[in-house]
Amino acid sequence: MNSRKVIAIDGYASSGKSTLAKMLSRHYHLLFIDSGALYRGVTLFALEKGFLKENELDQKAFSGALKGLSLRLEPDTGDLYLNGENVSQKIRFPRVSDHVSTIAALSVVREFLLLQQRQMAHENGLVMDGRDIGTVVFPNADHKFFFTARPEVRAQRRYEELKAQGQETTFKEVLNNLIHRDQTDSCREVAPLRKSDDAIEIDTSEVTTNQVFAHLIEKIEAK
Ligand code: C5P
Repeated sequence: MNSRKVIAIDGYASSGKSTLAKMLSRHYHLLFIDSGALYRGVTLFALEKGFLKENELDQKAFSGALKGLSLRLEPDTGDLYLNGENVSQKIRFPRVSDHVSTIAALSVVREFLLLQQRQMAHENGLVMDGRDIGTVVFPNADHKFFFTARPEVRAQRRYEELKAQGQETTFKEVLNNLIHRDQTDSCREVAPLRKSDDAIEIDTSEVTTNQVFAHLIEKIEAK
């Protein structure tokens, strides 16, 4: 496969996008970008700097401060640096998950990150996962996939991941957060979560990671 190829994976929260995107990036020696980490980084910034307090956002001050924000994804480890600090763990905390869809719905945030995401593909091909990669960020991507899975299956996987990291949460909280984010992400005006017409839909509810991987490789090689 050409080293400048772009593979876009979109879909619902915790449907297995990042795991599979990472596997594909290793297989094809392409850069892997988890675009959700960027939205989580911006959300953490809004919370830590006090622009977002008790569900109230000071949008004017936040928009101004965004211009000076530096976000960097380390290509080898996937770690996210926010103004020089490694925030890879903090961006997975429930308080970030609770607010990220609100922040991601703002057009000022989407414009800011759109540019950065496109620049990442300038020199190399990549595998990027998110919500609007095949529809907005890379509408001409060489391969597009759209992941779905039953909410309970997704919540169980996410719950187990969070527990393994030692985070305090319940299955119900995780399920509610996923449902809420899917709803907000699908209904927003700018770049809503939706399947691109030319994307291949993959339901990961009843299949193993290796089965999905084999299926993706088959589709990519057949094109
Ligand atoms: O992928 P992850 O679940 O970590 O994404 C967190 C949130 O970031 C999503 O629920 C969504 O609100 C936002 N997001 C987005 N567009 C993307 C990637 C993520 O709006 N391309």
